[in-house]
Amino acid sequence: MELQNLNVVVIGAGVGGLAAAALLARKGAMVTVLEAQDYPGGCAATFAREGYRFDAGATIGCGFHVGGPMDRLGKELGILWPVSPEPVAWQYHHNSLHLDLPPHRLGILERFPGSATFWREQADIAKILWHLAEGGLSWPVKGARDLARLARKGIAGLPGSAHLLTFSTKTVLEWLASHGLDSDPDFVRFIDAQILVSVQTTSRYANAVNAAIALDLPLSGACRVKGGIGTIAELLAGAVEDNGGAVLYRKKVIRIDSVRRQVFGLETSDGSALAADFVIANLPPESLALLTGLENKPEIVISESKQWSAFVLYLGMDLDLLSPLPTHHVQIVGASGELAEGNSIFVSFSPAEEPGRAPEGLCAVTISTHTRPEQWFQAKEKGSAVYKELKSAFTEHLLDVLSEQFPQARDAVRSITAGTPVTWKRYTGRFQGLVGGYPQTSLFKVRGPATSFDNLFLVGDSIFPGQSLPGVVTGARRAIELLLQWNDKTEREQ
Ligand SMILES: Cc1cc2nc3c(=O)[nH]c(=O)nc-3n(C[C@H](O)[C@H](O)[C@H](O)COP(=O)(O)OP(=O)(O)OC[C@H]3O[C@@H](n4cnc5c(N)ncnc54)[C@H](O)[C@@H]3O)c2cc1C
Repeated sequence: MELQNLNVVVIGAGVGGLAAAALLARKGAMVTVLEAQDYPGGCAATFAREGYRFDAGATIGCGFHVGGPMDRLGKELGILWPVSPEPVAWQYHHNSLHLDLPPHRLGILERFPGSATFWREQADIAKILWHLAEGGLSWPVKGARDLARLARKGIAGLPGSAHLLTFSTKTVLEWLASHGLDSDPDFVRFIDAQILVSVQTTSRYANAVNAAIALDLPLSGACRVKGGIGTIAELLAGAVEDNGGAVLYRKKVIRIDSVRRQVFGLETSDGSALAADFVIANLPPESLALLTGLENKPEIVISESKQWSAFVLYLGMDLDLLSPLPTHHVQIVGASGELAEGNSIFVSFSPAEEPGRAPEGLCAVTISTHTRPEQWFQAKEKGSAVYKELKSAFTEHLLDVLSEQFPQARDAVRSITAGTPVTWKRYTGRFQGLVGGYPQTSLFKVRGPATSFDNLFLVGDSIFPGQSLPGVVTGARRAIELLLQWNDKTEREQ
């Protein structure tokens, strides 16, 4: 079918859904985005509450460097992103160790002088991966056309690409061991903390190639997004509309109708029905399965490794009592034990120079920690008293960890709102409130956008390459690639 006649419905206005919608609308397709909430962004939204604008989940802009996935997306859609580089991506706190993560490794090399060759290798791998990701990444491979595309990118000729192959099956811990760094607990903890928030697992399980690009974030450049991270989704929603598409809010899709391997329409909770030639679902496969009625189909549910949810505090805080803030983002890691359940926290302060984010003299603070969802749903089932108790125990724990590094923190708190896995489930429609994407333990056991239906594709952080704004944008390009391939194929057959 001519692209101009294609009727594409996108379920969900997260960054992955909106990127796919805007790119397809730009190419001429008729695109409608249905979003359950009344604002866009999902995990990367900014929401208003009592005079504050809080980032819901994501707080750091990445992939905006020249040639990066966000930079290319903006150029293609004619969006000038309101981003400015952060001089320090974040500050890492572990006991008395305080390390800045600026766009160079000098401070890290001073503290860990034996790590120089590790960082050189990391930079080499990241360079190849950024090159491969330019304009999209045909992975996981689906046939000869994808292999040819990868070959065209000249992977074989890139310096160091043989290296990439050696790393593709290594864990990060094995990689560290090859540099004799696995026996330095402070270095391992430092790496674990960085990769947990990006590849969603620690060095024992994380794939070395995935980690190499995640560790590149401070170097490739962390950015501050004016108005909060949700500005990105707002601009993308604007680009969908500017290109003739529509973004409809308060439209929760409750059912996808299908015949054999084809979907043909959707229903929303307010009783609307829409026809579609193609559907793009900005959902995890488990949530999609509930809409298609294919809950029990084994190929739909693939996540083998345990995924995380998040406990998040949204605090209104007095800036004077916190000043001087070292950076806009701080990661605080406990002395030992698993880096989750409040034992490590990521803290983001809204910039003082952005008055729209908080009432005068105050700032909007988002603090998150990884948590397993089961305990929250069990507590909820036991009744509101048990659930509230768990929520307040986590709140106190996070405030204790924060106070260790910012002794004035408790006095500075002016308001507290807590988000649990139960909140994430309700707010994002994600199965068990699982956020942050899949743990990146293998390059080969990954899910691409294809589903059991020929004309239904997934986007978002449950497909390769996983979480983050540049991650879901790269995945959205892959979904479009497959959608267009399928459309060409059916056109040729008719
Ligand atoms: C605590 C936390 C911190 C993070 N920090 C960072 C960071 O600093 N930098 C970074 O780059 N990334 C970060 N991430 C990851 C990043 O936020 C996500 O990977 C990314 O935003 C996920 O986008 P997505 O496309 O998967 O869509 P989602 O964010 O999952 O959005 C999906 C959308 O679909 C809608 N929806 C769901 N079901 C339906 C339905 N049935 N009908 C209609 N609409 C529906 C939802 O309302 C939602 O708006 C963080 C994530 C978390 C949770």
